Amino acid sequence: MLAASHSWHRLQPRQSLTFAASAVRSRSRITFLNHKLMIELGRYQTDHMPRETRLCPLCKLTQVENETHFLLQCSKYSLQRQTSLNQINKIIPDIERKSTSESIKLLMNSNDYHVNKLVTKFISLCMNIRDTLLLSSESDVT
Ligand SMILES: [Zn+2]
Repeated sequence: MLAASHSWHRLQPRQSLTFAASAVRSRSRITFLNHKLMIELGRYQTDHMPRETRLCPLCKLTQVENETHFLLQCSKYSLQRQTSLNQINKIIPDIERKSTSESIKLLMNSNDYHVNKLVTKFISLCMNIRDTLLLSSESDVT
């Protein structure tokens, strides 16, 4: 997912490069998430896994692995989630007390630069964890 070395970037001041890169990331965030998770993978597999069987491969909650599970529920990311939510809570007070659907809306549709940055950081962190766990322990799924 790292941006290729586009030649126009070299002429931009560092600040605007960072901002441009993060704006692109935040626009494509939901698309990116959906493509990676089981809920979408199942749709393209030849045997067309029924929606309710596209479970999270990492935790034992037996929940469908969609963006809600990934962002708010999966136990594999609880440490990273707590850290991120603590920081987001300073910008969106009481985010942790909102309902699941409201939290998703606030996190994914935020116009706040810092919220977007924190959410993007959380997602990429958890995606790395997910990739590593899936690669390293195909037999040892806990
Ligand atoms: Zn899970």
